[in-house]
Amino acid sequence: MTRKIFQSIIGVAVAVLLGSVLIVMGVLYSYFEEESMDQLRNEAAYAASGIETMGVEYLDGISKQDDSVRITLVAADGSVTYDSLMDERSMENHREREEIKAAVEKGEGSSARYSDTIDEKTINYALRLPDGSVLRVSRTQVSIWVLFQSMSQMIAIILAGAIILSCLIAYRLSRRIVRPLNEIDFEHPENTENLADYEEIRPLLNKLHLQNKMLQNEMDEREKMRREFTANVSHELKTPLTSISGFAEIIQDGFVKQEDIKKFAGKIFDEAQRLIVLVGDVIKISQLDEGCLPYEEEEVDLFQAAGEILQRLHDPAQERGVSLHLEGDHIIHQTVKPILEEILYNLCENGIKYNREGGSVTVTVRRGEDGAEISVKDTGIGIPKPQQERIFERFYRVDKSHSKEVGGTGLGLSIVKHGAAYLGAGVSVHSEPGQGSEFILAWRGKK
Ligand code: ADP
Repeated sequence: MTRKIFQSIIGVAVAVLLGSVLIVMGVLYSYFEEESMDQLRNEAAYAASGIETMGVEYLDGISKQDDSVRITLVAADGSVTYDSLMDERSMENHREREEIKAAVEKGEGSSARYSDTIDEKTINYALRLPDGSVLRVSRTQVSIWVLFQSMSQMIAIILAGAIILSCLIAYRLSRRIVRPLNEIDFEHPENTENLADYEEIRPLLNKLHLQNKMLQNEMDEREKMRREFTANVSHELKTPLTSISGFAEIIQDGFVKQEDIKKFAGKIFDEAQRLIVLVGDVIKISQLDEGCLPYEEEEVDLFQAAGEILQRLHDPAQERGVSLHLEGDHIIHQTVKPILEEILYNLCENGIKYNREGGSVTVTVRRGEDGAEISVKDTGIGIPKPQQERIFERFYRVDKSHSKEVGGTGLGLSIVKHGAAYLGAGVSVHSEPGQGSEFILAWRGKK
């Protein structure tokens, strides 16, 4: 940044210097041209009165005195009758010359002409005499280009000095501009005593402070969630492990009759299964959280995928007396199939688990307002309104004992929510206690 500011200042300084030199030279040159023209005018007036009193011979006298001035006398028809520099007989007719024409018409005229090499410029002043002839006085001066060339060495020295000075000033200035920015304490932007003089950076400091605060809150929130999650996981792991250990201890101590051993072994197996499911769910949540899943997107027939899930859940549904239905269209959608299956499995499994004897679960694949949609609707116990927002939280269960009884871990809907986000979809719930629930997985913006 310091370098950029430094370069900009130098750029502006050099441009201003060059511009100034050119403007000053231009102004000076035109001033001197004006001066020369005034001088010519005086000389012409002076020569005119001389001719009037002494005749044309008078001109020979003054051209000898000042050879930088050329005097020409042009007759009313344009023919040159006298010239201080050349033989007038060899000179062409001057009627059409700009200054002569103007003098004939208006009494006086002037013009400026560059020589062939643009090194010199001739300025002319013409004055009409009482007898109708025109007296022209000319002077040659160097062109602005030559003036510039002759002064170039001096200009270069001045420019070099000015540029060195500009560099020094620019260096100090750029460091001074950047200094307050370097002095910002990004971790504690509210500590601004050293920056009190810089009103302009106060909005930036305020914004930084606000962002730091937001970041800190977010980090605190994440840390809180992580701690809660760890505590919950430990608790959830401890319960089945305590049961397993308790059952095994009773068997080990010989308190269980031979015929009951099978029953206790079954309980140990059930608790171990719960542990396996729980650990599996925790792993899925962590993977979704970190977004490091080894899956690729593919074209999936959503109707067919839902059918496969219902097929897998056929037995548990039959055990609970719940019928399964599939409706809708074969919509092909680009998505990650294993995650979609996980979502649908959890939703349909919940639809079966939290249902009543003789109830049903219907999966419908359709096109929604913004894109593909899959609805999982059951005729189960429903979810009270106040709890509907919380069921997607980790380990949140409306009825803890019922959830445990039906083998829930409290992580299913959290996996659904994270999975949907991973797929670029959203999940919503509509439910009426005693009537049933409908969970809708909807993609936005993809028809
Ligand atoms: P669980 O493993 O306990 O089923 P979930 O995260 O899947 O955990 O669901 C959280 C809670 O939401 C469940 O404990 C249950 O109380 C409620 N719930 C989820 N799905 C349904 C449903 N289809 N009908 C009624 N309640 C449901």
